[in-house]
Amino acid sequence: MMLLYKPNISFLEEHATDPDKRRYAVLEEAPRHYIDMDRYGKYPFDGLPRKWKDAVEKFSEDSLKAHGIVPWHIQVMLNRLTFAFAKKDFIAIMKNSAEIGHYIGDAHVPLHTSSNHNGQFTNQRGIHGFWESRVPELLAEKQFDFLIGKADYISNPSDFIWNRIMESAKASDSVLLFEKELNKQFREDRKYAFEERNGKIIKQYSSAYTIAYNNKLDDMVERRMRQSIYAVASFWYTAWINAGQPYLKELAHQHFSIEEQKSFDSLNMQWREGSRMLGREE
Ligand SMILES: [Zn+2]
Repeated sequence: MMLLYKPNISFLEEHATDPDKRRYAVLEEAPRHYIDMDRYGKYPFDGLPRKWKDAVEKFSEDSLKAHGIVPWHIQVMLNRLTFAFAKKDFIAIMKNSAEIGHYIGDAHVPLHTSSNHNGQFTNQRGIHGFWESRVPELLAEKQFDFLIGKADYISNPSDFIWNRIMESAKASDSVLLFEKELNKQFREDRKYAFEERNGKIIKQYSSAYTIAYNNKLDDMVERRMRQSIYAVASFWYTAWINAGQPYLKELAHQHFSIEEQKSFDSLNMQWREGSRMLGREE
């Protein structure tokens, strides 16, 4: 699969964020990125059927969508990717590979499984970006290890992704609690700092606060990123196997049509011009 993915790595990198961009254009996009597990009682949330059909029967589609559908959407994306491999459709393979990676990544973020997704109920606003952006931006390059070994075939994608969701849901309490505790040990002027980001000076969590949080979490962010990488690779691999292991070398150097390029440009435009996300933020 390297034959296909390696030469197109910059496409994957660039388009992994398309699903978030689409949130500025399409209202239905938002719930695909999260699931508020705490709306379904307490861990392990046995009241929520894991199968879409059963869940719809019990709660109705509208109410499921209101609380997020990421574990099911990942399975939809897996089917799309499998179909794309089976048809040897280069464009669909690349797009769906980039996008399934996004949703799988979101599912590994604890606050994507909690209704208190940005600490808005507990006076911790900003914690969402703190965990998923600030910590890795400061520490990933320096100290995170992303070599995870080989991908595996996933024989039961539903079980696999629900296990990841359960881990995220379980971890979301510590994500919130540890920040709350740390907050008591840092004065406001040590908690935040004016630092440079993308050439602009902005107020953000200080380096000291970020490092202290990462230590308290015992490298949880790194662990979730590693699991996420493994999951993305394994989902790609699984789609390819289920599609009958098509030979990929001849596809590797295809290009996107002008039409496709235009649709990417228009997504970018809507994103830049869109004043706010539709539906839930973050
Ligand atoms: Zn997202």
